[in-house]
Amino acid sequence: MSRRDTPPEELTETEASAELATLAEEITAADIAYHQNDAPEITDAEYDALRRRNTAIEALFPHLKREDSPSEASPGAAPAAGFAKSRHGTPMLSLDNAFGADEFLEFTKTIRRFLKLGDDAVLRFVGEPKIDGLSVNLTYEHGKFVRGATRGDGTIGEDITRNLETLPETYLPRTLKAPFPDQIEIRGEVFMTKADFIAFRDEQARLAEEREQRRERGEKVGPEIRIPANPRNAAAGSLRQLDPEVTAKRPLKMFAYAQGASSTPVAETHSDYLKALERWGFHVNPLSKVLPDEHAAEAFQDSIGTQRASLDYDIDGVVYKLDRLDWQTRLGFVGRTPRWAIAWKFPAEQATTVLLEIQIQVGRTGALTPRAVMQPVNVGGVMVQHATLHNEDEIARKDIRIGDTVVLQRAGDVIPQIVSVVLEKRPKDAAPWQPLTHCPACGSHAVRPEGEVVRRCTGGLICPAQTVERLKHFVSRNAMDIEGLGEENIIALHDAGIVKSPADIFRLEKRADEIRQWEGWGKASKKDSKKLSNLLAAIEGRRNPALERFIFALGIRRIGAQNAKLLARHYQTVEHWRERMIAARVIGSEAREELGSIQGIGPSIATELVEFFQEPRNLAALDDLLSEVKPEQAESFGDGTSPFAGKVVVFTGTLERSSRDEAEAIADRLGAKVTKSVSKKTDFVVVGADAGSKAKKAAELGVRTLTEAEWREMASLG
Ligand SMILES: [Zn+2]
Repeated sequence: MSRRDTPPEELTETEASAELATLAEEITAADIAYHQNDAPEITDAEYDALRRRNTAIEALFPHLKREDSPSEASPGAAPAAGFAKSRHGTPMLSLDNAFGADEFLEFTKTIRRFLKLGDDAVLRFVGEPKIDGLSVNLTYEHGKFVRGATRGDGTIGEDITRNLETLPETYLPRTLKAPFPDQIEIRGEVFMTKADFIAFRDEQARLAEEREQRRERGEKVGPEIRIPANPRNAAAGSLRQLDPEVTAKRPLKMFAYAQGASSTPVAETHSDYLKALERWGFHVNPLSKVLPDEHAAEAFQDSIGTQRASLDYDIDGVVYKLDRLDWQTRLGFVGRTPRWAIAWKFPAEQATTVLLEIQIQVGRTGALTPRAVMQPVNVGGVMVQHATLHNEDEIARKDIRIGDTVVLQRAGDVIPQIVSVVLEKRPKDAAPWQPLTHCPACGSHAVRPEGEVVRRCTGGLICPAQTVERLKHFVSRNAMDIEGLGEENIIALHDAGIVKSPADIFRLEKRADEIRQWEGWGKASKKDSKKLSNLLAAIEGRRNPALERFIFALGIRRIGAQNAKLLARHYQTVEHWRERMIAARVIGSEAREELGSIQGIGPSIATELVEFFQEPRNLAALDDLLSEVKPEQAESFGDGTSPFAGKVVVFTGTLERSSRDEAEAIADRLGAKVTKSVSKKTDFVVVGADAGSKAKKAAELGVRTLTEAEWREMASLG
């Protein structure tokens, strides 16, 4: 057990400083291993954990943040854990590029010179769209798929067999249709279609938001969810997942395009080889075409270029390969680059246009995201009017101003982004862009917590962009627990303008006649009308919630169920809590000190609470709500006389006279803080039968242990 098990808020300043130093070192080492050496040493999850811990410590000790803090650097792509290495039978190539007809003809002349061909010799080529995906090498033995690997450095790749096995059989046949060589390597390009990518990216963004909401509520969350920037990243990231079940859920496809090592020759020309690939059961890009001579390439390039925008996958050029394989063999390689093939790239899809406006979109969780609105412009065959600006730091870094002429690029063919500003064309009166101080959706003040890149609306209770999410949270099981108000009903009531704030829920009865006219709410049948009366009864039953539920239901950032409980116990009544929170708005005030000193709350959570109360609209919504509901007075720390009041208690092993859940609930009622792991802060460990490591650890740390009988006696349970 290392000091990593200590919760950040229990670290001393010296410990925190030392840990930030080692974290910086470890994260940098992991970044280098992944990005530079292509040899990741830790898993995605471990890497995320390091970063999260670093951020958590920095948030608690902002003054200890290091100059070389990893939180300042972008995390980059996910480090996949160490896949086994796999050596290719023949190297996987990297192609030279051509950027125009002249360069292409120069390439063909080199071939003629090398092969000593006269002008009358015909150079036949095969042109194939160059898919922007991830190249893989597939090994088949006796017609069975046995191994698949990434390109890696061209000689040795990562063994991703199990991930490749999740591709549909129609794209990656497990068995080749005979006849086939005993041993053969097939090269393919794995990709995601544009439509699949957009759906996948949106889903990832949704999951990331949900994760953020859970995190804010103090619930357990899994590793960070990455939102891929383009289809290539999405395909590469999917194939390099440690868990093949994750890969299986990703919509991946593959075109086969070449041969690697082969125990017997298959064809005399590349075009015949492509036919063999199809015969074996692979997809070959249907746009691939045999060109009668080198002069046909330009027209083919143009034709693919015009189709590019309408293809359902990304391409960045066309690959031309000499068709005759004997000539390919004679031409050979320079290093790993073949003399017989070239990638003729499309010009970068860029365009310039004028930035008209920077719009701010408010997400469901209150995140403010800037978006560029531009004069519509054609970029590579697609009309573009909007571009993402990610966050306000990016706008500042690129110094993007309204009225600027900007260079726009479609990254990975799908998402447009602003690459740079044409400074010479900047209007004289263009001023640096200023982040909004208020939410455009509701007018509440918008804040950017220290150390975070996202600015957020603080008007959680009243912001229309967040209303549905907040209401869902408000009525959820651990909050107000109102049955019969699922997402669908909330949306219906919200859209009808009947429920705009939590307080409106308690005024639903006044609109009952109106609602009863709705389809499914009483209009059609008795059963439907029951639905409304049941809902109204459920609402009435929640007019006196426990204070901790009430505080949790408000959905204040970082006030999860646990923190709400701490607040309820400390402040006892809603009136007292409200009054002290208002007083705590003044930094240095006695109320602020009091708030920060509550065990388990701490200064950063205190700040979030104060932000909430600093927004007058929230206060108005809270008071409106309090005109409808009266939260019960909270139980204090027992009556303060229990020996467990204010103590940290851990239960371990099997109890005989009650379940562990019940015992924990009792300890909780007596004012104890029940935790799961033993540390030097633990006051008591209650040891049941068959207790394991926790009892041992308690002994090591000198923490007092109690038998079940001792616990029951001290808890006056008899
Ligand atoms: Zn708002």
